[in-house]
Amino acid sequence: VPQNILNKSEKITEEFPLILTTGRIRDQWHTRTKTGKVNRLTTHIPSPYLEMNKIDAIEREINDGDIVDIYNKRGIVKVKAKLNFNIKKGVVFLPMHWGKVKGNDFGRANNLTNNLIDPVSKEPDFKYAAVQVLKHKKEKEKICVIGAGAAAYRFVQTYRAHNLKDDLLVFSKEDDPFYNRVLLPEYVSEDLTWEQLQKLKKGEIEKLRIELHSGVQITTVNSEEKFIIDSNGGKHSFDILIMATGSSAFVPKDVPLHLPGRFTMRTKVDADNLRTYLKNTELPEKEQHVVIVGGGLLGLELAASLKKKNINITIVQRAPRLMERQLDRVASTLLAENVQERGIQIYFDNEVSTVFEDEITSNKLSISLKTGKIITANAIVYAIGTLPNIELAKISNLKYSRGVIVNQYLQTSNPDIFALGEIAEFENSLYGITSAAEQQANSAAKFILGDLSSIYKGSVLMNILKFEDLDLCSIGMVNTPKNDPSYEEIILKDVTQHFYKKCIVRNDLLVGAILMGDKNEFAEFKRFIEDKIELSEKRTELLRGKSSTIPVLGKLVCSCSQVGEGNLIEVINKGCNDFNELCSKTGAGLGCGSCKPEINEILLKPNNRRYEK
Ligand SMILES: Cc1cc2nc3c(=O)[nH]c(=O)nc-3n(C[C@H](O)[C@H](O)[C@H](O)COP(=O)(O)OP(=O)(O)OC[C@H]3O[C@@H](n4cnc5c(N)ncnc54)[C@H](O)[C@@H]3O)c2cc1C
Repeated sequence: VPQNILNKSEKITEEFPLILTTGRIRDQWHTRTKTGKVNRLTTHIPSPYLEMNKIDAIEREINDGDIVDIYNKRGIVKVKAKLNFNIKKGVVFLPMHWGKVKGNDFGRANNLTNNLIDPVSKEPDFKYAAVQVLKHKKEKEKICVIGAGAAAYRFVQTYRAHNLKDDLLVFSKEDDPFYNRVLLPEYVSEDLTWEQLQKLKKGEIEKLRIELHSGVQITTVNSEEKFIIDSNGGKHSFDILIMATGSSAFVPKDVPLHLPGRFTMRTKVDADNLRTYLKNTELPEKEQHVVIVGGGLLGLELAASLKKKNINITIVQRAPRLMERQLDRVASTLLAENVQERGIQIYFDNEVSTVFEDEITSNKLSISLKTGKIITANAIVYAIGTLPNIELAKISNLKYSRGVIVNQYLQTSNPDIFALGEIAEFENSLYGITSAAEQQANSAAKFILGDLSSIYKGSVLMNILKFEDLDLCSIGMVNTPKNDPSYEEIILKDVTQHFYKKCIVRNDLLVGAILMGDKNEFAEFKRFIEDKIELSEKRTELLRGKSSTIPVLGKLVCSCSQVGEGNLIEVINKGCNDFNELCSKTGAGLGCGSCKPEINEILLKPNNRRYEK
């Protein structure tokens, strides 16, 4: 029993008026040396935060989720604020589990605690320190963004959601900025109008306060003196530069793309050119013939779109099967059957060797294949891969390999220059998918805004084939390495119904999945694979569950996950008012991500928010 109390803890002062207490959270222990390795536990609370009473926050103009600086004479911590009335006014709480994260101690509680110990028990006084908490303030900066594609779009959206002060300048080589590139096949087939592809509706550029330079290419980047030069000779200084220049379609060097009838499919101009060319043949659609080189995702989606218009389609595929990198043999075979049933001809193990104009008939090409086969067609579209546009990075002395090399914050070898999307090479990987571009853009935007916990850890490769009447996707690994018993496969197959599902498991983690026939498990499997969540008892339930096909309600919003406007409104009406939660509950926006602006619009529509939390 203590005989007397001698409180030597430091007193709060005008300068440091809040009591900081530190401690544990439910799912972590000590400095996470063990619990930090269990991803299931990390999903509970993934990063350090400061719990604060709402009154203290209002007095400091701090909103929930804002980055705050917690400081005293000993040091500083910068984390997100979590506001509530549970914690007493005048007291703030910081979990003690995060030491250094990737060499950075932004969330370390002991930057702030003092060295005082109880003279008898030697217990340290970690539960009591005087601090001040203020909203993190950054100097006004000028940010230039090169490119107006998927990565740039997500970057400006995330950035502006938290910062209206900084200058944002966007330069787009294309005359048409910010559109859904992934939907170009549907635009070519006239299933979708140009308006339906545009991500920014009228007036939104002004709302986002972007200085947009459309049809303007950046030709020079001076990374030392921090300025860029555009194709009109304009010079623009920058504090931060975002490079998001995407890729170009790859075509063999000897292909004369400037000659009539030869196309690629990367931009609106490419799509318009093909549309106009086919119209100018003046042939009825059922007499038109297009050869598509490449049996990957893009080639197949374009083939299916044009076939819907009754145009004759031939695919020339170098590999012995379709989507050979994104599917295993079984799925490729079933897919090929499905494609052929649509009346599309496929030549496997074949390549185009020459393409000549027909001497007699205009708009006619004579295409000879390596095997000697000669095909007569009106047009040929090359869909055989992409090359990242890294020329600017090369001339500005940034480190590059296949792409521009970036760190966990998407910084290039110059910390004021970031590379996002298809040009970014992170830990030897390049990602040619929208979801990776968006994840990177989110991470970089939050980091620049001051959130040091916004660390990019790489993306999981994901492919969703957008065929109207066939559900097919793959996530992560699709083939197990030979002779490695640590991998297990769980397979469900119904060949005649083109139904095939496969999971690959290793060390209690789901590392890959193929879903053909329905994609009901897509959202769940994506989360397990992306977050590397231990399966535990879920392992014995994989693919055992009853398929619960929820019908599409109302207008289709997400074609990847087959989610309608009605499905979204249903979840919103149950109380969901958070964008990410809405996506994860419905599965919408988790595929190519092109429907995200529409989901957000539905979420923000006042009529849809009958129930507010
Ligand atoms: C037809 C098609 C279908 C696709 N389908 C899917 C799909 O189903 N799922 C999926 O995940 N992904 C799909 N993709 C890939 C997806 O579109 C890309 O991964 C994504 O757009 C990459 O975003 P990004 O911002 O890196 O590049 P992009 O979206 O390509 O944007 C880059 C922009 O930068 C501009 N630019 C380049 N250099 C300069 C310069 N010097 N100055 C100014 N501007 C410049 C380019 O003109 C372009 O507008 C598809 C792509 C195509 C073409």
